[in-house]
Amino acid sequence: MKKHLVNYYMNNFEIDNPDLFPLYVGIDDTDSASGMCTTYICSVILDRLKDCGFKLDGPPRLVRLNPFAPHKTRGNGAVSFKLVLKSKNEIKKVKKIILEMVRELAVLEDPNTNPGLVFFEGDLKGQTKFELHEYALKTIQTIIKKEEAEKLAKKLGFEFFGFKKGRGVIGALAAVGCPMDDATYELLAYRDSLNYGKKRGVDQESVREMDRQTYPDTFDNLDNGYMAITPHTPCPVLYGIRGETSKVVLKAMKLVKVSEPIERFLIFLTNQHTDLHLQVADDISQMEKFQCYIANGVVKDFPVVIEGGHVIFTLNDSSGEVECAAYEPTKDFRDIVRQMAPGDQLVVYGGIGRKGTLNLEKIKIIALAPVYEYMNPFCECGKRMKSAGSGKGYKCPVCGNRTRNDSKEKVEIERKIKTGFYEVPPSARRHLSKPLIRGM
Ligand code: ATP
Repeated sequence: MKKHLVNYYMNNFEIDNPDLFPLYVGIDDTDSASGMCTTYICSVILDRLKDCGFKLDGPPRLVRLNPFAPHKTRGNGAVSFKLVLKSKNEIKKVKKIILEMVRELAVLEDPNTNPGLVFFEGDLKGQTKFELHEYALKTIQTIIKKEEAEKLAKKLGFEFFGFKKGRGVIGALAAVGCPMDDATYELLAYRDSLNYGKKRGVDQESVREMDRQTYPDTFDNLDNGYMAITPHTPCPVLYGIRGETSKVVLKAMKLVKVSEPIERFLIFLTNQHTDLHLQVADDISQMEKFQCYIANGVVKDFPVVIEGGHVIFTLNDSSGEVECAAYEPTKDFRDIVRQMAPGDQLVVYGGIGRKGTLNLEKIKIIALAPVYEYMNPFCECGKRMKSAGSGKGYKCPVCGNRTRNDSKEKVEIERKIKTGFYEVPPSARRHLSKPLIRGM
C-alpha cells in the first residue's frame, strides 16, 4: 500500500508564519461514468506532493454539490485542499505538478469530462471568504453557469484552468469555498487498478463487526444488515467509511477485512450528511425544479402505488401543491409513506426533479389526521349486519333482524404510524442527506 496521508495533515507547523505561502487548490470534473474518480485523482496528487516534501494544511475536502446539477456523473463531488509552501517558487512548482497530473489522470477522451482547476494564493478571509461561502452554498442549492463561476474567480483573484469545456471550474471553486460548520469525514480506500470492474473483496462479517464497534460514530455501514460501504460502479473506490471524526473512520478501517490489496487511502473532511443542500421553503408554490427543500404541508390525498413500486402523494399548503414520491429504491420507507392520509401534517425533506416531483429523503409527521371507515351498523344482538340489497337496508346474518335505514356507521380507524421522523435507508440516501442518527 502507498504511504498514506493520515498524519500528514496533522503536522503542527506554524500556519501563521509570514514566511509561508498558502495555496488553495480546487479540482472537479475529472471522471466519467465508465471509470476514474475525482477523489482518487486528488489522492494520487497528494501522495505525489507529499513525496516531493510539500505540506498540507488541514484535511483534503470532498464537497458534494447540487444533486440535481445536469452534468454530474454520479455524486456531484468536487475536491479541494490547502498547501502551505515555503516560497513563490514552490507555488509555481506545485501548480505545474497538479496541472500535469490532472491532464494525465482525467478521462479527457470522454466528451462529458470537462475538468476545472482553481488556485488561490494567500489566506482566504474577510469579504473573499464570505463571497466564496455564498457562492458555494448557491452551487450546492441551485444551478450555476460557468460564466458566473469564472467571473467570481476573477474578481476574488483566483487563477483558474479548464480542460476542454472547463465546466469543472464551477465545482472546483465551490470546493474551495464551501463552509464546513457542520461536517463529517469519509475514509476512501482505493483498489489496485488490476481489480477495477471486478467484484470487490470486502468481508461482510468484518463490516458488521466494525459497525458494532464504531456505530453511531461511523454510520451507513450497513443497510438492512448487509454491507453498504462498497459502491456499485466500476470506479477505483474499494469502500468508503463515513463518520464523525477522522480518528473513528481510521479505527473502522482497521476492522474491515479485505481480500484484495488497497492501493492507497485518504480521509476527507466533507459536507456529506449535513443537509446543506436543503433550503427552507416558505411556500410550496415557490419551490423550483432541480433544487432541494424542507417544506411544510398537509397531505391532500391517499398515496398511490404506481408501476415500478413508487409511492406518490400530493402535499399542499395555502399557496399550492407538490407531488411527493418515495421511489422504489427507498424500500421500506415506502411502507411509511403508503400510510399517509388526507389531512396529515408533514415536513418533507427532498429535491425536485425534472418532472417537478419532490423526491423524498426524510419526512417528519407532525400530526396525524383521523381516518374513518364507513361500516354496516351493528344489530341489537351485537353482530354486524349485512346489506339486504341496494336501497333495502340491512339484515342480521345471525338473528335475521332487519332495518330499512340505509346509512352506514362512521368508524375511526387506528393509524398504524406515529408522529416523528422517518428516513430512507442508507443505500438510497443522498450524499448530502443528514441521517437521523446525526440528530435533527
Ligand atoms: P463523481 O462524483 O463521480 O466524482 P460527479 O458526479 O462529481 O462525479 P462531475 O464529473 O464532477 O460529476 O461533473 C459535474 C459537473 O457539474 C462539473 O463540471 C461541475 O463543475 C458541475 N456542477 C456542479 N454543481 C453544479 C451546479 N450547481 N450548477 C451547475 N453546474 C454544476
